[in-house]
Amino acid sequence: GQCAAVCPTGALVERDYSWRVIEALADPDKVVVVQTAPAVRAALGEEFGLEPGTLVTGKMVSALRQMGFDYVFDTDFAADLTIMEEASEFLDRLNRYLKGDKAVRMPILTSCCPAWVKFFEHQFPELLDVPSTAKSPQQMFGAVAKNFFAKKLGIPREKMVVVSVMPCLAKKYEASRPEFAVDGNPDVDISISTRELAHLIKRCNIDFLSLPDEDFDRPLGESTGAGVIFGTTGGVIEAAVRTAVEWATGKPLEKVDFTELRGMQGCREAWVNVGDLKLHIGIAHGLGNARRLLEAVRDGKGEMFHAIEIMACPGGCVGGGGQPYHHGNFEIVKKRAEAIYREDQGKPIRKSHENPEIVKLYEEFLGKPLGETAHHLLHTHYFKRSDV
Ligand code: SF4
Repeated sequence: GQCAAVCPTGALVERDYSWRVIEALADPDKVVVVQTAPAVRAALGEEFGLEPGTLVTGKMVSALRQMGFDYVFDTDFAADLTIMEEASEFLDRLNRYLKGDKAVRMPILTSCCPAWVKFFEHQFPELLDVPSTAKSPQQMFGAVAKNFFAKKLGIPREKMVVVSVMPCLAKKYEASRPEFAVDGNPDVDISISTRELAHLIKRCNIDFLSLPDEDFDRPLGESTGAGVIFGTTGGVIEAAVRTAVEWATGKPLEKVDFTELRGMQGCREAWVNVGDLKLHIGIAHGLGNARRLLEAVRDGKGEMFHAIEIMACPGGCVGGGGQPYHHGNFEIVKKRAEAIYREDQGKPIRKSHENPEIVKLYEEFLGKPLGETAHHLLHTHYFKRSDV
């Protein structure tokens, strides 16, 4: 209603889209595809009485299959894709900047949080060319599902329904932005929260705790540890650094964990070596912290940053507004973040550019990062907004 129209994060009014999911699943003419964001698996179990920080990835996949989704895929796959594009964009900008190209603006800002995107569109219109143009994982997934996977299945995009399960309420708004639709058909049709998924599982009478662990479908279900850590503050930039440093130096990383980028301090900075160059990285979570960091960038204060990650929710997506309520107990958010890093540790592949399905997708369909098809499907632009 009224409030949602004026709230910059779209999070003041909660819209329940569960019924839309039920309708889509009941429609025999539709192929219904689901993607689940990294932070969901680290919190969904809480709705079923499990300890905070319990990973329920396999049970979540089982439950979605039992509910009748035709394909159970992973937003983490699209997070790896986001890194391919964002790391390429970062290195391109950095190289031009180092060569003295005055048209290049630094730092690059991450752009996967829609509440943050809407915030800078309203509050920092003079910085619209600073954020990465890479779409968020949710939107990259939708674009690939409807332009690549639907073709593979031999169906028109209108026959496919893409559902996303997100830790986030602002993702509903992001999915509805008109630039993410083709002739009125959105890339992501329905976005529901972790809480809505929990209610749906209960409504379907699924005994969640006794479900077996199952694995995501392929190809859009394959992901790396880098895709997983998108779910916590510092994770997006760490995933980008893993790929950018390896590409820039041409050598395998000596250590995959960039622990200097981790932690829960609201505004933090770290330095990462790339050969002789020291990258200055900033991280903020919570919009108050983001504003402080952005004002410093705009006013040219302090040492220049090369890249900054910003997430609107304290803790990043693990603390998102669509997650099970934590009633202000931040220890719960921290436990979810630890679970995310555990999942990363346990993954056989931990760098986005080594995801074999991502490599195949570029070979078969996308061409090169920042190439023509990739640019068309995986990048976006931002708008000055003054309607606050
Ligand atoms: Fe959504 Fe919050 Fe994550 Fe931003 S940080 S994408 S608002 S859950």
